[in-house]
Amino acid sequence: MSETFTAIVIDAVDGKPKPEFRQLSISDLPDNDVLVEIAFSTLNYKDGLAVSGKGRIARRTPLVAGIDLAGTVVESRSPLWKTGDKVVVNGFGLSETEWGGYSRFQRLKPEWLMRLPETFSFEQAMAIGTAGYTAALCVNALEDWGSIKPGEGEVLVTGAAGGVGSVAISLLAARGYKVTASTGRPETHDYLASLGASAFIDRASLAEKGGPLQKERWSGAVDSVGSTTLANVLAQTVYGGGVAACGLAGGADLPGTVLPHILRGVALLGVDSVMAPMAKRLRAWQTLSESLDIKHLSALTKVEPMSNLPELADAIIAGQIRGRVVIDVR
Ligand code: NDP
Repeated sequence: MSETFTAIVIDAVDGKPKPEFRQLSISDLPDNDVLVEIAFSTLNYKDGLAVSGKGRIARRTPLVAGIDLAGTVVESRSPLWKTGDKVVVNGFGLSETEWGGYSRFQRLKPEWLMRLPETFSFEQAMAIGTAGYTAALCVNALEDWGSIKPGEGEVLVTGAAGGVGSVAISLLAARGYKVTASTGRPETHDYLASLGASAFIDRASLAEKGGPLQKERWSGAVDSVGSTTLANVLAQTVYGGGVAACGLAGGADLPGTVLPHILRGVALLGVDSVMAPMAKRLRAWQTLSESLDIKHLSALTKVEPMSNLPELADAIIAGQIRGRVVIDVR
């Protein structure tokens, strides 16, 4: 393994993140115990911020970007993993403080690795990626809260045509819930209906500041937008309902009141994928194995070479990517 390979490295120039393609060799990688030959990585919103240089995702530099990877163990100093094991990593600080998946090889800590579920290929696992696994965490959080019931009430998904939104719709519909999709792209309605959405609202209707308690409509919601959208969703959630909040595509603020929480018992269920404990991750991947339609997954995914990442990063930040993008690092 003396060859060199291409990776996307984030370095700092004058205190600002500067991403660039760089040739690396195995000896350049961090001294972690498990060496993985990566088959695919993926593009998430956070990757868009890192690769476009528009967000300060890398908290130490230089490091290889890419928050997800799937591949095969080629060397292990850990008893937990052996050569030939097929593995997936989501988050755990990859691209933030640790070297990530936009590379042909990476050395990783054994506790970050999860066995590739038998139901999925490398490419399918990365079509899911952090966005899809986060959608599953949100579905599990709503089911645990207990306010959503198959066949009863409406579950709202915001940021519907994005990665988290697309997978959330497919999972919720497969589990029998009636799903309403909030999108700013009417041209995606047929696509969202094919994933299982049965009604649509224009995302602009949630973007204006509304009253603290609005007409009760949603028994639950998956929100990847944040800001005024999330405040309105909370104000429109039924008595005892729950909202799984995972994203900030519309902003990191939350301009609302406590009234939905203290007068209607509405729960704001925070969802983090990066440091989620392994038991939660395994359960989310179990939900994906049980309920994600593989035909939906291929309909919502495209595969792109790593060389296209700079343009793809700009597109995801501009809200122009539909569904999920798998990155072929080979
Ligand atoms: P995508 O870009 O694929 O999807 C985001 C969607 O949000 C867009 O497709 C668009 O949907 C909508 N959107 C974009 N901009 C705006 C805006 N200004 N106002 C309202 N809606 C907007 O990103 P991902 O699905 O990968 O990620 C979604 C969010 O979730 C991101 O903020 C990301 O950081 C976060 N996230 C958080 C995780 C966690 O661990 N908590 C893990 C994964 C993601 P449409 O065109 O349909 O309106």
